[in-house]
Amino acid sequence: MTDVKGKPCIICVAITGSLPTKANNPAVPITVSEQVESTHEAFEAGATIAHCHVRDDEGKPTSDPERFARLKEGLKMHCPGMIVQFSTGGRSGAGQARGGMLPLRPDMASLSVGSNNFPTRVYENPPDLVDWLASEMLNYGVKPEVEAFDLSHILKAKEMQQKGQLAGTPYVQFVMGVKNAMPADRDVFDYYIRTVERLFGKDAPWCAAGIGPAQIILNDWSVSSGGHARTGLEDNVRLDRDRLAPSNAALVARVVDLCQKYERPVADWRQARQILGLAPPR
Ligand SMILES: [Zn+2]
Repeated sequence: MTDVKGKPCIICVAITGSLPTKANNPAVPITVSEQVESTHEAFEAGATIAHCHVRDDEGKPTSDPERFARLKEGLKMHCPGMIVQFSTGGRSGAGQARGGMLPLRPDMASLSVGSNNFPTRVYENPPDLVDWLASEMLNYGVKPEVEAFDLSHILKAKEMQQKGQLAGTPYVQFVMGVKNAMPADRDVFDYYIRTVERLFGKDAPWCAAGIGPAQIILNDWSVSSGGHARTGLEDNVRLDRDRLAPSNAALVARVVDLCQKYERPVADWRQARQILGLAPPR
């Protein structure tokens, strides 16, 4: 564990997602102005990547590029330097609509490279759509974050890198704790890390996200193992069984505490951009 000491840790905050509602937790930001305010608090608490979904006037997930544009502008103004990552996940639209906001050139976008089960449905990522999303990201200079819901998704990222579909070293995020997909399993987690190191090099950065009660577990495993960490109300609306999280910033603060525990500085936005090979803010 000593080798992770002093290594900056990037904190990503997934502010809204597609599923949580005000009924689940009133702190979930739904409108663009709520999203900007919640992200600003999280940024001040130490988050340097904002993982973003947008909602329509009824609070339902949408891929509407106009909303994404407003959110991006708001974040640029109120969180200067912060890395903006748009979701191209499958709950907010179908087919190529999922990538309709990529021409806005966010710093990053999530990219699922394979299919798996979700709690009540199949999370469909057919090969032709994956190829198209990756090519749009290349066209617009958007760095993908590869969402690994399964081991095969890490190997798929390697194949895509070799074929020139992904620029540079892929940034892989392990996702655990989604019902009917990969649970939070320590042996699998360790094998994921070994696989990333084997395929992309010892220094390749990686991240992990846990859903629901797995969030804090994955935060602990990531920070203590030298990875980067994702938190936020998208993945989990509670501090513990009895208490709702009062804000995205409160969830970020839990990761900051873990960074202190394991003697890792929280990466500022300049360090985060450097670690991820991103250009200066745009
Ligand atoms: Zn998301």
